[in-house]
Amino acid sequence: MVLDICQAGHPVLRQPSRPLTRDEILSEECQELIQRMKRTLQAAPGVGLAAPQIGEPIQLAVIEDRPEYIAKWPAQQIMEFRRKPVPFYVLINPELELLKPEAQVLGFEGCLSVPGYTALVPRAGKVRVKYLDEKAEACEQIVEGWHARILQHEVDHLGGTLYLDHMFSRSFASQPNYLQHWSNKPIREVCRELEIGR
Ligand code: ZN
Repeated sequence: MVLDICQAGHPVLRQPSRPLTRDEILSEECQELIQRMKRTLQAAPGVGLAAPQIGEPIQLAVIEDRPEYIAKWPAQQIMEFRRKPVPFYVLINPELELLKPEAQVLGFEGCLSVPGYTALVPRAGKVRVKYLDEKAEACEQIVEGWHARILQHEVDHLGGTLYLDHMFSRSFASQPNYLQHWSNKPIREVCRELEIGR
């Protein structure tokens, strides 16, 4: 069964989520929810889904970036944004540390809760994340490139933040307009044309 995805304007997307206990994580209910979120993410399709997006204000998100999604991108973009496949994993009670936050990277980001649109969002290029997995085991990763962007986006959801709060609003575009006018240009050129300050 695929879950409904809450759209921007739903209050659950704007409240901080609560952490899960070890017992809650290991419960049948939570394990079932993780499987449903996985199916919902893959059906969308998307690269990340946070529990508030399916109406649950808990600190749980799922992430997966499949080779077939990346294959749809032009080679130049895959290089520019350093996008690599990320196998499916579950992120619970994450603590994110931005490494070199002063070195921000711009990229066009979208959200399953704001479908049909995209915008340029500055993000840290490298992050460290500590979290629990679906077995309630402690994990730690240092992540770069597009995966670091996905992580920052999903952890934001758990704090009630959307990419709209960070975007360069002059770059906000419908998907068709993005594809027609901006998708094939280097970010530096997009910024120059849109007069986005540097
Ligand atoms: Zn999102």
